[in-house]
Amino acid sequence: MDRKYIFITGGVVSSLGKGIATSSIGALLRARGYAVTAIKIDPYINVDAGTMRPYEHGEVFVTDDGAETDLDIGTYERFLDVDLARGNNITTGQVYQTVIEKERQGAYLSQTVQVIPHVTDEIKQRIVDAGERVGAELVLVEVGGTVGDIESLPFLEAIRQIRFEMGRENTLYLHVTLLPYLGTSEEYKTKPTQHSVATLRGVGIQPDGIILRSKTPVPEEARRKIALFTNVEADAVFNAFDADFVYAVPEMLEQQNIGRFIERMLSLERVTPELRVWQDAVRVLRQPASEVSIAVVGKYVAMPDAYLSLMEALKHAGIANDARVNIEWVNAEALVEADLSPLRTFDGILVPGGFGVRGIEGKVRAAQVAREHRVPYLGICLGMQVAVIEYARNVARLEAANSTEFDPYTPHPVIDLMPEQLEVADMGGTMRLGSWPMQVSDGTLLQRLYDPAPASQNVVYERHRHRYEVNPGYVAQLKDAGLTVSGITPGMAGRGEGLVEAIEIEGHPFFLGLQSHPEFRSRLMRPSPPFKGFIQAAVARAGARRNDAGPERAAVPGEVLP
Ligand code: GLN
Repeated sequence: MDRKYIFITGGVVSSLGKGIATSSIGALLRARGYAVTAIKIDPYINVDAGTMRPYEHGEVFVTDDGAETDLDIGTYERFLDVDLARGNNITTGQVYQTVIEKERQGAYLSQTVQVIPHVTDEIKQRIVDAGERVGAELVLVEVGGTVGDIESLPFLEAIRQIRFEMGRENTLYLHVTLLPYLGTSEEYKTKPTQHSVATLRGVGIQPDGIILRSKTPVPEEARRKIALFTNVEADAVFNAFDADFVYAVPEMLEQQNIGRFIERMLSLERVTPELRVWQDAVRVLRQPASEVSIAVVGKYVAMPDAYLSLMEALKHAGIANDARVNIEWVNAEALVEADLSPLRTFDGILVPGGFGVRGIEGKVRAAQVAREHRVPYLGICLGMQVAVIEYARNVARLEAANSTEFDPYTPHPVIDLMPEQLEVADMGGTMRLGSWPMQVSDGTLLQRLYDPAPASQNVVYERHRHRYEVNPGYVAQLKDAGLTVSGITPGMAGRGEGLVEAIEIEGHPFFLGLQSHPEFRSRLMRPSPPFKGFIQAAVARAGARRNDAGPERAAVPGEVLP
């Protein structure tokens, strides 16, 4: 079959949940057995998301090949259960960078280089390449931003041309809009959607289908009105109303026959999708057997988007353990001076990745509480580094040990810049990024968690995004003081036995620090082993606490109460 393309645009407002709509459609197509890939177009001029603030823009997602992408790429990976790559996130910056480089090389000799056709050709090429690279049968292309934005015009023109070139049966346009509800007149208002479709038509695209985002299910009458005014068929207006869990969205759309609609429009065979994983997940999320409370000690508190993959990995791990994971955000800065005993009342403490000195001492103290009071601890990247700093100071007696990221003059730089980083001048795309092997030591917690296949020779892969590492010069002292190094990157010259990838504490119910970010690879269908084990340990602790009627959870200094 010819490769087919589904284009998703957005109207009325941004942050509509277009990424979830796109991903849910992807999930429905995957559940029909198709090879699917997804592309996110970000019309901003940054080359990638790596240099943007997670606080405003959400997390920076990292792919196997080390691209720093928009968080939607992570949502696609999780919903489609595929590994994506650099080429799946296209930005204006990348497109212009290529076009300008080509112009300098003389690729357009004698021509005037223009948005149409040179920029649009480059965009089309990138879309085609991303599908080609993985042999996709269906390619989802989500255009970020809102129609009417100046920045998105070249992209809309490019996707318009793709139908012109590839034909109707190989292209489909879906437009996602917000349907506002007016309390005073108690009705959904369709006018913004009409205007948004008119704007889209103005650049030559008539959508084939509309997906309405709304708070509650939209009445049939409003749907019919939208069909009439936007010139789409009545059965091509779909409604993604707010769901209690995003994993319920694929089935919600399937029940409205969006799958059948896509099959019809793209001349695909009629297939019944297998949606069991989604249904099972939603069932557990709605009625779990138990619950655990996890303290997430971070800098961006109550900012789920800044830690989206982490939140999802915890959710996957909760589902795998039939438990609800209640996240309590704890502001690391508030822990510095405070009485930390309330931290012991959690079933688990997690210190996520991060950059910069803000809140560091609070995170170090959180790791100390977890170690001393046997609270399950998972340290991700920075979370591992603070655990090492804590252990160095308080167990190995290396006074004022620190990372040179936070104290360049520390007498004991137990965490230090990786040698490769010394020559780095640019900030963009220069960290240690992407998938790297981790050699797992026998007889460790890490090995029990990953249970690597014999053929792998105890090597597993996780994704990375960091500049600092455990200083090889201190590994012997830390080990002598009792710290277990359970994972290393094999074969890195001049790094002692190899770069430290994982640390743990023997005899502790669950104390694990990882230099990598296993949350990026976690899927509903394949929960990340460290997260799964962490929540399992938390469930055990919650059960034990219930039995001996231990202390009630008290508020922690810095905790953001729901
Ligand atoms: N700031 C630390 C480093 O660069 C940790 C990074 C992270 O947590 N992703 O090494």
